[in-house]
Amino acid sequence: MAASVSDALRAATEWLRASGSRSPRRDAELLLANARGVDRTELFRAPERVLTPVEERRFDGYLVRRQAREPVAYIRGHRAFRSIELEVTPAVLIPRPETETLVDVALEVLAALPGPGAAASGSYEPLALDVGTGSGCIALALAAENPYVRLVATDVSEAAVEVARRNAARLGLGGRVDIRHGDLLDDLPSRERFDLIVSNPPYIPEAEYRALEANVRDYEPRLALHGGDDGLDVYRRLIPGSAGRLRPGGVLAVEVGAGQAAAVRALCAAAGAFRPAQERADLAGTPRVVFARLSTRHAGG
Ligand code: GLN
Repeated sequence: MAASVSDALRAATEWLRASGSRSPRRDAELLLANARGVDRTELFRAPERVLTPVEERRFDGYLVRRQAREPVAYIRGHRAFRSIELEVTPAVLIPRPETETLVDVALEVLAALPGPGAAASGSYEPLALDVGTGSGCIALALAAENPYVRLVATDVSEAAVEVARRNAARLGLGGRVDIRHGDLLDDLPSRERFDLIVSNPPYIPEAEYRALEANVRDYEPRLALHGGDDGLDVYRRLIPGSAGRLRPGGVLAVEVGAGQAAAVRALCAAAGAFRPAQERADLAGTPRVVFARLSTRHAGG
């Protein structure tokens, strides 16, 4: 029997709840919106509307995938992050809300640079680097929210680079965001220097990785999540390397996992090139970003 939008949502919510989803109503709404090719608010405008057979079949297919713990963002193929909508595939980590904190810090750093006025008149163009860009979420959000910055964004995964490039092109930001294949800082031209380096590297420790929920561990790229035994492997390469890649007064800002901020600040101190590092908490109150400015003695070698 043909179901209305509200019937379908009610039945799907119960079914997803029974199959273990933590946000069954939200999942059902997002998936039904996708099955109908509309946005979520459209569902509430006409809750009595009867689904077509095609919409119903599509919705059922999505629900079966969700029951197998596939993340909603992969089923839909896209995910919102700050003001932009990004294509996501299993080649890239799904952008997380806590990563918006890193974007906040980065925007503040950019705003404090020689100034939009200077950039507008062509005398100064801030250049930022996003290491391990994945979907491109950080680099593209920065470009979308700061009209002056230019960015280089790298990823070691070719498949991720392709997703990020498609996102840049679709958002009309390809002119200011140069997405390149490369391993951390290793493949950059030797003379390239940046005002800001940002990164959300893989930082989940081995034991926690094994205990991750199935929807993350079985679907999202291990390469983007697993940070070695203690989760800090990538910071150990990235932090010392960054010092030589920053312009005078440049800033390194990295996302960190819960409980890692002090260790990552210590890695910045050990690099011997930064002023004392600072922390910024995410909306849940967890220290989530560590950032440090190059000390004046070091001018990016
Ligand atoms: N915040 C992500 C998670 O907990 C991890 C992201 C990362 O390793 N950079 O799933």
